[in-house]
Amino acid sequence: METTTRTVRPPAIAALDELQQLIGERVVLDPVQLARASRDSSRFQPAGLPLALVRAESTEDVSLALSWAHAHSVPVSVRGAGTGLAGGAVAYQGGLVLSLERMDRIVELDVPNCLATVQAGVVTADLDAAAREHGLFFPPDPASAQTSTIGGNIATNAGGLRCIAHGVTRDAVAALEVVLADGRIIRTGARTRKNVVGLDLTSLFVGSEGTLGVITAATVRLKPVPPGRPRTFRASFDSIEAAGRAVTAIAAGTAQPEVLELLDAQSVAIIEQYSPSGLPMPKAAVLIGQTVGHDAAEAAEVLVAVCRTHGAVEVGTSEGDELLEARRLANPALTAQGLRVSCDVGVPVAQLAAMFHGIGEISERHRRRISIVAHAGDGNLHPTVEAGDTPEEHRLAEGVLDDITRLALSLGGTISGEHGIGAVKHHELHLQLDAGLLEVQRAVKHALDPKQILTPGRGI
Ligand SMILES: Cc1cc2nc3c(=O)[nH]c(=O)nc-3n(C[C@H](O)[C@H](O)[C@H](O)COP(=O)(O)OP(=O)(O)OC[C@H]3O[C@@H](n4cnc5c(N)ncnc54)[C@H](O)[C@@H]3O)c2cc1C
Repeated sequence: METTTRTVRPPAIAALDELQQLIGERVVLDPVQLARASRDSSRFQPAGLPLALVRAESTEDVSLALSWAHAHSVPVSVRGAGTGLAGGAVAYQGGLVLSLERMDRIVELDVPNCLATVQAGVVTADLDAAAREHGLFFPPDPASAQTSTIGGNIATNAGGLRCIAHGVTRDAVAALEVVLADGRIIRTGARTRKNVVGLDLTSLFVGSEGTLGVITAATVRLKPVPPGRPRTFRASFDSIEAAGRAVTAIAAGTAQPEVLELLDAQSVAIIEQYSPSGLPMPKAAVLIGQTVGHDAAEAAEVLVAVCRTHGAVEVGTSEGDELLEARRLANPALTAQGLRVSCDVGVPVAQLAAMFHGIGEISERHRRRISIVAHAGDGNLHPTVEAGDTPEEHRLAEGVLDDITRLALSLGGTISGEHGIGAVKHHELHLQLDAGLLEVQRAVKHALDPKQILTPGRGI
């Protein structure tokens, strides 16, 4: 997939000198490093090299870089770890790349208030590990947690494995420090549990994909680690629709899992080939779940019984985390197979069986194998289409994904559950947002970034 071409006038050499004078050696011009900072983990390719990379080390660096870009009308791509799957952090040819990766300090762990204040470049798993030393944890759990940054998680409103129990990243954000497109620094939100003062700009910046401002720091909510040992369970099904019905029944029941994921048979085969975990091969699909708390073992038995009622042919429970580790390997395993033409859609959880059935029909119609990995408890699916490594093959695979996206919408769903719109899904935005809604969203963008320098042409 190619970037849309955007005419960028390279600023005069004098302007680049000015940037170096402002930010010093944190400005990188080396083409090898520029190329490295130009991509994310999506299939979206940069059209050419950016002009410069700023490796910000402070909020002031970010502010100076944006003031400079604003003054010279240079487009800016913002990046954390570049694990994004929507092309949002991909560099603009002749643009500025603003990296937050070096802003990786945990500023404060406020244990009594279950809060942490962090710089945007802190790696998600590092915050979680630091919180766990105090009996707390950071609830958002994207499968990329070992590398993704908190700033990236907030900018994409990342989901993950534990959302069914704890919500998405938005639910964990109390306050933000944001640098606006012209370099102004603002602070939103509060450290209190309740706060109804002014418009909720914290929520506005969460999920804004680098289009409204650059998040430089955040105060996030932590939770106490549940007591006892977690319990994992699995349930294999001969029909993926039956697995969908089991998830719907679980979501409406009283015993709740902390995690409820689905892997179809093809995904299990690919993961087992990549890194064997001993996960039994299902005929159609396997559900993998986790329960926590004092009654974790009892709750797991209840959930396994629900699965049996809905057609599970083989079930098991254990104390280890290997099953979830196998699930976390899904993305790298599919990527290692060259299967990168995947998408992210969501449906109301009661429509899961219909969604799986419809994907089966799309697969037959296009004669393409589609593998499915899903944060099933949230109704959030990541179907991947098999495609050869040619532009024509990718174009055909994109057509299959478009059909899947339309199917999700026809079932009352969404074109993106957690990865965001970025560049990859920008052409599909109008399918979900009507002209009136798009106009309001773009008015907000215009108010905060009148020169359209921040992540232009993506997200909204
Ligand atoms: C193996 C793998 C597993 C994944 N699993 C999940 C998952 O379970 N759930 C999920 O939701 N996602 C998942 N993702 C996608 C990705 O990890 C998330 O979108 C993550 O939040 C991106 O974080 P990042 O630091 O890498 O951001 P980047 O990729 O660098 O950027 C992502 C977007 O956020 C913007 N951005 C980044 N930092 C800032 C900032 N400080 N201020 C403003 N804008 C910013 C960028 O401009 C871009 O639009 C996965 C990706 C991979 C490769």
